Amino acid sequence: MTTTPTKEGSAAVQARRVLVLNSGSSSVKYQLLDMNDRSRLAIGLVERIGEETSRLLHTPLTGGDAETRERTGRIADHAAALKAAAEELAADGLGLDSPELAAIGHRVVHGGLRFTEPTVITDEVLTEIERLVPVAPLHNPANITGIRTAEALRPDLPQVAVFDTAFHTTMPEYAARYAIDVETADAHRIRRYGFHGTSHAYVSRKAAELLGRAPEEVNVIVLHLGNGASASAVAAGRCVETSMGLTPLEGLVMGTRSGDIDPAVTFHLKRVAGMSTDEIDVLLNKKSGLVGLCGDNDMREIRRRIDEGDERAALAFDIYVHRLKKYIGAYSAVLGRVDAVVFTAGVGENSAPVREAAIAGLEELGLVVDAGLNAVRSGEPRLISPNYARVAVAVVPTDEELEIADQTFALVGQAESAGQQVPVGQVDN
Ligand code: AMP
Repeated sequence: MTTTPTKEGSAAVQARRVLVLNSGSSSVKYQLLDMNDRSRLAIGLVERIGEETSRLLHTPLTGGDAETRERTGRIADHAAALKAAAEELAADGLGLDSPELAAIGHRVVHGGLRFTEPTVITDEVLTEIERLVPVAPLHNPANITGIRTAEALRPDLPQVAVFDTAFHTTMPEYAARYAIDVETADAHRIRRYGFHGTSHAYVSRKAAELLGRAPEEVNVIVLHLGNGASASAVAAGRCVETSMGLTPLEGLVMGTRSGDIDPAVTFHLKRVAGMSTDEIDVLLNKKSGLVGLCGDNDMREIRRRIDEGDERAALAFDIYVHRLKKYIGAYSAVLGRVDAVVFTAGVGENSAPVREAAIAGLEELGLVVDAGLNAVRSGEPRLISPNYARVAVAVVPTDEELEIADQTFALVGQAESAGQQVPVGQVDN
């Protein structure tokens, strides 16, 4: 273990920048934020890591015109990706060796039941994230690689894990448990964890702000509709139900995932269609949802095809919206009283037809969309329901990176102002 036990005098250096890293299996997204005003200094993406066609896109945001620079050619691994990103940042005078950098915040997909809050990463924390790999085989290994790589780059800095599952750990046991044999479930940690928690937390809080109320005073249904999609029911600021489960496969119809399905379909595919477990995994995660139904997972393309009279695209849209409606109804029942239904992420923020169709016919639940307001395009949180509506319908752009930066900075700041030593350099490489 490389140990530099404390970040000596760190508070003395006005360290108010946070680097946010979102490491996927073959990509790293990064953002550098200035926590004085929570503005972005630079954003970037390295994709197709390990392939000949790797690409880095880097956009400094400190100057007038945000001009994206591109690097192409093989970037061998995550360490090389982060090194390349660091070089781009340095070229803008934003080098990661700067004393202004306070911490690195990592998106970590699965935190199980243990991690209910953002957590400073130590060896022990990393071991626990590794122990969760069996329930998040696609995501946690990439997150661990990102953490180790960042640690090697700045061993003197606190690294913070912000978990996608954390916001959902408040779900009551009766919502989180599957109705299967308890011993089997517990032995294999099978339960509903939920994902996209950082987005659900941010958006539900912003929605309360939009309503001019405290989060503790409102009940909201959040519909995070991106390529992955999930719904959550948030009562008084706490998640009480969400649509994703043990993995992100459960729930809504997504870009490439089926969402809810009778589990017997999988036995059937195995026994009758002779498919292997891995083939079924790929079918349900990558070849289903909108792409499986009509060949496209981009809602813009689906709408274009519908306008041209394409029936497969129209049916895919109807199935997508029908599932959404079922969840809005179910979560209205779970919450009892709903103050707002909130749309977010790529589809939720941009597709007026999806919002209109999902809310259509729900007047008995107090839900109405104003066509004029729904047609407005804006990057700001906004209401799309008429004044007279009993329940607000809103669009709130999500910002998972800002939420990760806020949580990271708050955690490091709290520890320092309480005079605690923030563990740094405690991750073995
Ligand atoms: P996300 O995962 O949140 O980045 O969302 C990506 C998805 O958002 C894409 O696959 C599209 O289906 C959808 N999307 C993005 N922009 C638009 C748009 N202008 N209109 C409709 N859908 C959009």
